[in-house]
This record gives sequence, structure tokens and C-alpha cells, in this order.
Amino acid sequence: MMINLTDMKTVRSILSRHGFHFSKKLGQNFLVDPSVCPRIAEEGNAAPGFGVLEIGPGIGTLTQQLALRAEKVTSVELDQRLLPILEETVGEFDNLHILQGDILQFDVPQLLEQEFPGMHVAVCANLPYYITTPILMHLLESGAPIDSITIMVQKEVAEKLQAPVGTRNSGAITAAVNYYGTVEMLFTVPRDSFLPPPNVDSAVIRIDVQKRYAADTKHPKHFFAMLKNGFSQRRKTLVNALSATMHYEKPVLLDALRELGLSETVRMENLTMEQLVALSNCLSEKDSSGEEKV
Ligand code: SAM
Repeated sequence: MMINLTDMKTVRSILSRHGFHFSKKLGQNFLVDPSVCPRIAEEGNAAPGFGVLEIGPGIGTLTQQLALRAEKVTSVELDQRLLPILEETVGEFDNLHILQGDILQFDVPQLLEQEFPGMHVAVCANLPYYITTPILMHLLESGAPIDSITIMVQKEVAEKLQAPVGTRNSGAITAAVNYYGTVEMLFTVPRDSFLPPPNVDSAVIRIDVQKRYAADTKHPKHFFAMLKNGFSQRRKTLVNALSATMHYEKPVLLDALRELGLSETVRMENLTMEQLVALSNCLSEKDSSGEEKV
């Protein structure tokens, strides 16, 4: 019979039997709310025909729900101390493969090809919050054939990710993620759904990967460099931010803004996705006659 990993008494007894202590450094807040994991699995495409990559299984609470529904689940856990616990809690699933390591060190396309041949692929995770952005960018930039990424993140991060590009709440990460897909906020999760409770509330989002703007972007490296630099000084006008960080001459930037029909005083945070792509295309074309700016 499947162990109930949302029953506090059971969880505490497993953890104490294994002498396990939570690592704050590794972002270890385990889900103990029985309604959350089935919902992530359902909304995250854990279904027949799908291989699911899970990042950070912890003691296996979400893993159980994924393995009950998906064709195959591969879970990557950094903390070696959790391996004997996972053997006890989810060892019974023969469609589950647990790998020990840092997800950021994996070659994602190679991993998916090896683990999920001929399957659609979804990523599901209750992410360690200290590396939310690096993990997201590692998955998206790898170009791996992933259909969707359904993740629990800090509520503020979820709000930033789903803010329309060109509005005050958006940032470099919003535009970067929109470059690869569409973001949908699924539901919020209060802090007391975790053991131990974190200091912040959380939310589950799903990114449907479609590479929406890739075809229109002439120089992706320039586009991402422009986002990083422009948003690092977001309170300045775009002209001041990009001349300071990417060393463009101001007349070159003013020229580009004029060509695109944009005001001289516009800021990075005012531009829509289409305008950001157009600006990068315009500036990188100007670069090709001179110095490279990435
Ligand atoms: N999935 C479990 C749950 O929902 O209860 C645990 C989620 S906990 C927020 C994050 C997990 O990610 C921890 O088990 C932690 O050890 C693991 N982790 C932290 N950094 C990692 C990394 N770089 N690669 C893989 N796993 C990591």
C-alpha cells in the first residue's frame, strides 16, 4: 500500500528514523497538503504517453502522484541523504527512475532522450526557491523538446512571470520566459502547506512551451543580453540604460527608437514583447556594421 506522505505523523516518523534534518540551503520545504500534489500532477500533463522530469523529489510526495499517472517519471535529487528515504517511500513504482545530482549540471536534451524515448515530455516540480530562475533558464535555453513546465514557485515570482511584458511588474525573466512560451497562473498555495513552512506564500504556474518569438528574433544572444542589461537599470530611460551597460552611442539608440516609432524617454519595462524583439533586431543589425555588443 502507498505510504501517506501528507500525514504528519508518518512523515515525522520516517524522517526521524532516517535521522534526517531539513537543509535550508537546499530549499527543503516538503509539501504536506493532500490536495496540492494531485493537482500539480493533473494540471502538469502527468498522463499516459508522457515522460515526466521531476526536479527535487524530496521525500517523494509529488513523485507518488506523478508516477501514478505518467508513463514514466525521472526524478533528479541533489541531496544524497534523501535517496534511502525515497527507496522506502516510492521504491515500489517500477515506472520511476531516481537520479542523484544537481539538475543544473545535467545536459537536459541528452537526459530526456535517454529517459523518455518516443514520449512527450513534461517537467513538474516543487522547485527549490534559491535557484528558481537558473533552473527555468537551464531548461528553456537547452532547447530540449519539453511540452510544458509546471512548477511551484514563490508567489511573487509567479506574479512576475505571468505579468504582461511591458507592464511594471514584468522583468527580464518575464520577457525571457515569454520568448519560449506562455505562462499561466494555476493556483496559490499557503505557507502552512509545507513542512517546515517557508517565510513566503507560493503559487503553481504552468509554462506551455511554444518558442513563440524565436523565429522573429534575428540574434537571440543579443536579445537576451539586451534584456539582462536593460532591465538591470530599469528606472533609467532605455537610452541611458543601454548606453551605460552595452556601451551603445546614444545617437545609435535614439535612431533605433525613432525607426520603431518609440519615444526617446521610453524605459525597458514599457516595451511589449514585439517591441523588444524589434529593438534587438534593429540594434544587432546596426552592430553588424561595427562592434558586437553581446
Ligand atoms: N518535491 C518535494 C515536495 O514537494 O515535497 C520537495 C520539494 S523541496 C521545495 C526542493 C527539493 O529540491 C529538495 O528535495 C532539495 O533537496 C532539492 N534540490 C535542491 N537543489 C537541487 C538541485 N540543484 N538539483 C536537484 N534537486 C535539488
